[in-house]
Order: sequence, then C-alpha cells, then structure tokens
Amino acid sequence: MINSTMMNVPLVLTSVMNFAEKVYGSSEIVSVTADNPRHRYTYREAFKRVRQLGNALRTLGAELGDSIGTMAWNDYRHLELYYATAASGLVCHTVNPRLFEEQLEYIINHGEDKWLFLDLAFVGLVEKLQDKLPNVKGFVVLTDEAHMPETTLRNAQCYETLLAAESDQIEWPEFDENHPASMCYTSGTTGDPKGVVYSHRSTLLHAYASALPDTFGASVREVVMPIVPMFHVNGWGLVYVVPMTGGKLVLPGPKMGDGETICDLINTEKVTVSAAVPTVWLALINYLETTGKTIDSLQRVTVGGAACPLKIMKIMKEKYDVDVRHAWGMTETSPLGTYNTFKPGMEDLTEQEQDAIRLKQGRPIFGIDIRITDENNNELPWDGKTSGAVKVRGPWVTGSYYKNDKQAVDEKGWFETGDVACIDPEGYMLITDRTKDVIKSGGEWISSIELENLAVDHPKVAEAAVIGVPHPRWTERPLLLAILKDGESMTKQEMLQWYEGKIAKWSIPSDCEFVESLPHTATGKLSKKDLREQYKDYEWSDSEPASA
Ligand code: AMP
Repeated sequence: MINSTMMNVPLVLTSVMNFAEKVYGSSEIVSVTADNPRHRYTYREAFKRVRQLGNALRTLGAELGDSIGTMAWNDYRHLELYYATAASGLVCHTVNPRLFEEQLEYIINHGEDKWLFLDLAFVGLVEKLQDKLPNVKGFVVLTDEAHMPETTLRNAQCYETLLAAESDQIEWPEFDENHPASMCYTSGTTGDPKGVVYSHRSTLLHAYASALPDTFGASVREVVMPIVPMFHVNGWGLVYVVPMTGGKLVLPGPKMGDGETICDLINTEKVTVSAAVPTVWLALINYLETTGKTIDSLQRVTVGGAACPLKIMKIMKEKYDVDVRHAWGMTETSPLGTYNTFKPGMEDLTEQEQDAIRLKQGRPIFGIDIRITDENNNELPWDGKTSGAVKVRGPWVTGSYYKNDKQAVDEKGWFETGDVACIDPEGYMLITDRTKDVIKSGGEWISSIELENLAVDHPKVAEAAVIGVPHPRWTERPLLLAILKDGESMTKQEMLQWYEGKIAKWSIPSDCEFVESLPHTATGKLSKKDLREQYKDYEWSDSEPASA
C-alpha cells in the first residue's frame, strides 16, 4: 500500500486572496457605487482593506461560523465583504434586495444574520423591517461619513469609519476546507426560500472549473464585468475566478440593467468578457440600437439564468461581433453546471445547425455529473430527443438545504434540479421546461421554452410566456401571453401563424393574449405559477383548437 506524498493543504478562499495580492497586486478593480460613479483601486489596496474589515468584524463581535448578511450591488465594498467574511471563517449571506419584505424577513431570520451590511439605497427598506429582525445586532451602511444618512437603524455604523479605525495587519484563523464560506437562498417561487450553504472547498473547486478555457476562459489579460448580481449565487463565481486568474474586474454597482452605464463601462474600461441574464443584453442592445454606439472591446458574454433567445445571440454576433455563450446552473449548483462552446468541426455546420446548438445550454463541465431520468428514476438515453428530469451531483452541488429536513437528493444520491431536458450524443443539454411548467397535451409534452423563444424571435414581440391551461379534450393546451413592443400591433392570428413551419403543428399555441406586463420573480424569471393561477379558467375560443 503506497500512501500519497502530497501535502494536505486545505482548499480555502483565504488562499485566493493571498495569491492575488502577491501575484496580481497591481490588477485593478473598478466600481460604480452610490457615492462614487467610478471608484478605482488595485487588488493590493483591496486586500489591505479586507484585513481592516476582518479586524472590524472582530470588533463587532463576530465569531467563527457566524452569518453576516449583505444587501448590496456589485461593487468593491461588497467584494471586500466576500473576502473578509470568508477569511475570518464567517459566512457571507448575500440577501437579494429585490425580494418581498416577508421573504427578506424570513431569510435574514432563518439565516441568523448577526450583522447586516447594506447599500445606501436599502436604508429605508431595512428601517421598516428592523423590528422584525431581532437577531441582527446592528446595521452597517456601505458608505463614507460624507454620505452617511440620518437613520433610525439600531446600532447603525458607517462602513468607512469602521474600517478607518482598524489595523491592516491580521492573523486569519485556520479551519477545515469544508467550513462554510457563503450562503444564498433560492428565490422560492413555491414555499419558503431555501438556504444553500457553500463551503470553501466547493467554492474553490467551482472557481477552478469555471476558469477553464471552455467555460469563462479566465485569464490575466481579460477585463471581466460580472453584471450578474453578487447577491445571486456569488455572482456566478466570478468574484473568485477573476482574482484567482488576475484579470481586471469591473463592477457596475446599482446600474446593472442600465444600457447607457453598461455601454460606457465596456468602452472606457475596455471590458472583454461579461456575464448576465438575457434581459440585460436586451437592454444593452436597445441602447446601442437607439444611440448607434458600439462595444468594440467586448469579445464574449455568458448568458444564463433563463433560456437565451436566438435573436440576442444573432444581434450580438452580427452587429457587435460578440460571442454569446449559453450556460445553465442554479443556486444549488454554485451555479455552473453546463456551458456551451463548439466542439471542433461544429464551425463547418450550416448556420441553422449551429443555431440549434447555440440554443442548447451546453455540455456539463468537469466536476458535474449529469443524468436525465423518467418518472421511475430510470436513466434515459442521451439521444437528443428523449427528455426527462435533470439530476446532478458533484462537489459543488448541494446535498441538502440549511435547517431543512426535506431531502434535496433522490434515493440514488442525485440532486433533483426541477428542470426537464434532453441531452444529445455530444453531451449538449437542451432545457425544455421546469418540471412544473411542462405542458402535457394529448399525451405529448410541449416545451414552453421553445414556444417562448420562437415568439420573441418575432420582430414585434418584446416578451412572451407560454403556459399550459386545462383543456376539455387535450388535458392541457399551450396559451401564449405576449407583450408587444411599443407602438406595434398585430392580430392573434398573425402571431400564431408565425409558428407555422417552425414546429410541429400540434405544439403551436392554441390561443394567444396580448398583455401589458408579465409577472416576474425577484430574480427576474417569469412567474408561471402566477400566470397559471390567473388563466386557470381561460375560455378557449374554439373547443377544438385548430392547431391541436
Ligand atoms: P436560480 O437558482 O434562481 O439561479 O434558478 C435556477 C433555474 O433557472 C434553473 O433550474 C433553470 O430552471 C433556470 N435556468 C438557469 N439557466 C438557464 C438557461 N440557460 N436556460 C434555461 N433555464 C435556465
């Protein structure tokens, strides 16, 4: 029996920080904040302040394993909190400020946050909420003395004043690599939100895998702008990936959905790589089209969180020479699970064949084991046609939820994602639905995502949702709800005809309603649960839908 001779060095995030400071100390972090439209400093300066913050957290009485809440946009102070909490053995609990007040109350109490660090913009909201947060000892406003507001927050502190009082020397504690580092609650479209707790090890391994060339392709030469919020699954891990690989980091603060700021940041900071949900790219495209501006430095963007319509990919490539790469993941998978780049030879396929591949969410990244199963949990083939429930396992997939007895994994130890997909023989997964959103019509499954993608490809459509509505003969039929672009009009018939020849006749929506708005969850996803409730008694105009 031979034993390994390798050192057993724990995989902890403190090492990312120490490494980045030594090797990439002069790389820059540029941020937009409420009190400064363009803050700029180096990794060296950032990590010096992280040590001061580590001391400040001790002064505040935080102890190993305590949870520290953050309600903040993407900027340098939030980044400092990420690293100071992790290196101190505390848990950085990023709270999504867009949640309803009851959800915020639930999450902060359930997560047992000892202190809450919040952006200026959320002071009013938290003032109203604070009496319902008995475990929070006090609140730290992420600003300087000049911008510190009059506030009724109990034990209110000013972030910059807190830091200024502390030494930049610190002895970080040692702990096991399985020690918790951060926590994020799922957006919870059904039931209470559920907490996922990431460990140092899971976060570090996820960052290694995310940095690979066929994933984010991180490098010291890249200028990376994560637009995906840092309160949502660690900003898809980029806050670790970029310091690990030394690139310049650009953080858009509260301006993430604002086409003008995003365009300006790309051009002035020479951003090469970015990541965001599809709606952000739509906002940017609208801004570019109305102003005639360009984004010359930008080379590729990762899009995920929701299916990306082909139209976005096409416009970004053809007009702005930007590669849009589809990725899939979830809060429970840290988040990266699959990523879409072409395998050799795919460049030679026809445009139509290439488009079909681009629309898929991509291949599993190494470390993520993936399978699709039928209702009896039997594994289904990767034939590109058979669809089933997506199950995953791996070192950065959660096995349970925080303080929740309900099992997150099936009897074979796989995490049930709640997504439905098919996987082709090359390993590319295509998400067709959430399990709960699947439309079952006359024994056939219809993909609501495919129908939505096609609808938004119509030049007059701004946004679309497709839901299954009870039907006397077919169990359910798809109903399309579409928002038209400003100033556009069309008939239902014209809309439904758009599908003809593009998909099987029986899967064309049976009817269509034009609406002013569609309900969204706090993470910007369509809330189909609400739509199904709203349209559950929908009267089909024809008892025998023409398209069925
Ligand atoms: P969340 O935990 O809030 O990040 O939500 C995760 C869910 O978002 C997944 O289970 C999918 O249903 C959906 N999702 C994420 N990425 C994609 C994508 N690229 N295409 C379609 N759905 C996606």
